[in-house]
Amino acid sequence: MEKVAHKRRIVLVPLPLQGHVTPMMHLGKALTLKGFSIIVALGQLDQVSSWQHFPGFRFITIPESLPLSEVDALGPVEFLIKLNKTSEASFKNCISQLLVQQGNDIACIIYDDLMYFCEAAAKEFKLPSIIFSTTSATHKACLCILSKLNPKKFLIDMEDPELQNKLVENLHPLGYKDLPIAGFEPLERFVELCKEVVKRRTASAVIINTVTSLESLSLTRLQQEFGIPVYTLGPLHITAASTTYSLLEEDRSCIEWLNKQKPRSVIYISLGSIFDMGTKEVLEMAWGFCNSNQLFLWVIRDGSKSLPEEVAKMVSERGYIVKWAPQIEVLGHPAVGCFWSHCGWNSILESTEEGVPMICRPFQGEQKLNAMYVESVWRIGIQVGGEVERGDVERAVKRLMIDEEGADMRERALDFKEKLKVSVRSGGSSYNALNELVNHLKQSERGAKH
Ligand code: UDP
Repeated sequence: MEKVAHKRRIVLVPLPLQGHVTPMMHLGKALTLKGFSIIVALGQLDQVSSWQHFPGFRFITIPESLPLSEVDALGPVEFLIKLNKTSEASFKNCISQLLVQQGNDIACIIYDDLMYFCEAAAKEFKLPSIIFSTTSATHKACLCILSKLNPKKFLIDMEDPELQNKLVENLHPLGYKDLPIAGFEPLERFVELCKEVVKRRTASAVIINTVTSLESLSLTRLQQEFGIPVYTLGPLHITAASTTYSLLEEDRSCIEWLNKQKPRSVIYISLGSIFDMGTKEVLEMAWGFCNSNQLFLWVIRDGSKSLPEEVAKMVSERGYIVKWAPQIEVLGHPAVGCFWSHCGWNSILESTEEGVPMICRPFQGEQKLNAMYVESVWRIGIQVGGEVERGDVERAVKRLMIDEEGADMRERALDFKEKLKVSVRSGGSSYNALNELVNHLKQSERGAKH
């Protein structure tokens, strides 16, 4: 373990959702291995009680934070805008108390880019701050583009190809119409949020959970946009050689079930921690999977639409259902042949890192972007779009599990797996970026002392 001269604390502020907490905790783990100790500030502490034993991690609460239960009533955009407004003063108090308790020993505040209220505290107490983005570099680049748009002219601009090309320059195959706005209406408020999220403020660097070899063009563009170092540390669960940080209890019985199956014979189906499907889509999927004659492991979370009785029996013959799986272990299991995914960024990184090709069924803007990259840029999967019917599901499964094109995608996915492994090994891009980040933190520390 590398030692820093004075062990100093880093305050991490994740958005308290699984897809955001997980990479932030991996980052924390990576930094503890470099000699820092970690304070995690969360709005809802009860969720993470099982993590309290993590060595080097201390958890504190931001008292005035907005509960996640408000998302349903407000919608994601209004929720985030309000969360940032309500938390700012409360977080300043937290930091002020921490500074007293820790004898001024805070090296940096690293905050999720959606928790931009944190910067006000960093500024007030003259602490270094770093922005952490849990989505792809391409998504972040899109938010930069969206932040500069006039929402009233968005649809009119759609008609002007020259303008469009200029805006999305260097983000091929991304077009203007692909900008990730679906699910975040009304556009006026979303653009306002984007403006806040991409504002650099006094932050001295940006951390992204991605890999240079996956998104080099988008990263170049981001570097230009921000004008401060952009550290690409992904996939963070590998860079940090970390354990899982699951908010839900994992059902490990599926690993025993997988142990009994032949290599690459199972489709793993998961739609992440938030999204849910309508009953009709669940039914069509169930029929499609059964008709494909392949085996499947399906995550159906508590509170999601359950399988209608008429198909539950049929499904139990070919499939295994859990409420929450140890996803990384599942994707690394030899029995898994493909991943039916909603294309959250963590799921994409985890699948790519295990060399598993994907069937993409995205719901909202960012996921659609990720799906597009899987299908058209990395060519390690296919998309199922529109209103899904059992025939589409069956065809998609057969394309990936049986047909030659599926084998080609698997080959390419395995190439990426190798590239990602190289990136976290000594001398690799993520390995180097982590060391550069540590140097950056030490320098900021010195800067703050003088
Ligand atoms: N996950 C898991 N078990 C499951 C389903 C998902 O551990 O049964 C984890 C998955 O490994 C990933 C996270 O939940 O790290 C989901 O994040 P992602 O960005 O893919 O999607 P989100 O939930 O944010 O939509």
